[in-house]
Amino acid sequence: MTDPLSGASKVLPSGSAQRGRRMSAFRGFSPLGSRAWRKIAIFFLGALAIIGLPAALFTVFFDQAVLVRRDVIYHINTPHNVVALTFDDGPSPEWTPRILDEFKKAGVKATFFMIGDHVKKYPDVARRVAEEGHEIENHTYSHPTLVFYTLDKLEREVRDTERAIRDATHRSTQYFRPPKAWLTATEKKKIEEMRYKTVSWTLNSKDWVTFDDKYMVKYIVRHVRSGDIILFHDSGGLFSTEGGDRHETVKTIQRLVEKLKKMGYQFVTLSELLSLEGHDT
Ligand SMILES: [Zn+2]
Repeated sequence: MTDPLSGASKVLPSGSAQRGRRMSAFRGFSPLGSRAWRKIAIFFLGALAIIGLPAALFTVFFDQAVLVRRDVIYHINTPHNVVALTFDDGPSPEWTPRILDEFKKAGVKATFFMIGDHVKKYPDVARRVAEEGHEIENHTYSHPTLVFYTLDKLEREVRDTERAIRDATHRSTQYFRPPKAWLTATEKKKIEEMRYKTVSWTLNSKDWVTFDDKYMVKYIVRHVRSGDIILFHDSGGLFSTEGGDRHETVKTIQRLVEKLKKMGYQFVTLSELLSLEGHDT
């Protein structure tokens, strides 16, 4: 006699009767045949490919997504062993102070491309960045995708940020980094007319998607060259400009600074880096 569902014999060897019953019961809850399961698996794999592939490509090509590369500062040629660490999207009341603490311990200065709206919300944090000798630059007021903006709106984004930074820190800004590094040729010209230089980066830590400080350090140490500009974030999640988890970024600083110092690198701010361009002494 056989079980109608499992096909297993009811006459089981001693000790396996219990197990046999459990198997039959389990199979009893499985109304789908193996073909149906295969179809479901194919469906999920297909969905993963449709969603995952563009996401992976976007991540891989993200740091090459600048619409205009001409006259944008990515890297400088210099005989000096120097690199500039840059931090976007802050200030953040949660993460910027921890990052500043790390820099204080390491005796290193960095450059912060701030969002005007965040400066307005957290002027004390912005002030601390300035007081501790770091450089502050312009990363728009609301972090929009500028390629869809009119030149008037672009100008407002930059000027409002300039004002917020000046009010909070008494500092002026001279470098502009467009959100996601997206900018049209016309917009870049407008930025130049406003006496700003557009700055991108050489190495992207991808700290907004990479949740491992060791990986970030390894990637940077392997690719770094003198005159590089390295991108980090002191705020922002995957789809927002605030919040996010920057634990790994905080951890990365200490490890990276130690490693790069051993390799003979010095850390400079962006304007210091540009002043060393092509200089032999
Ligand atoms: Zn940004």
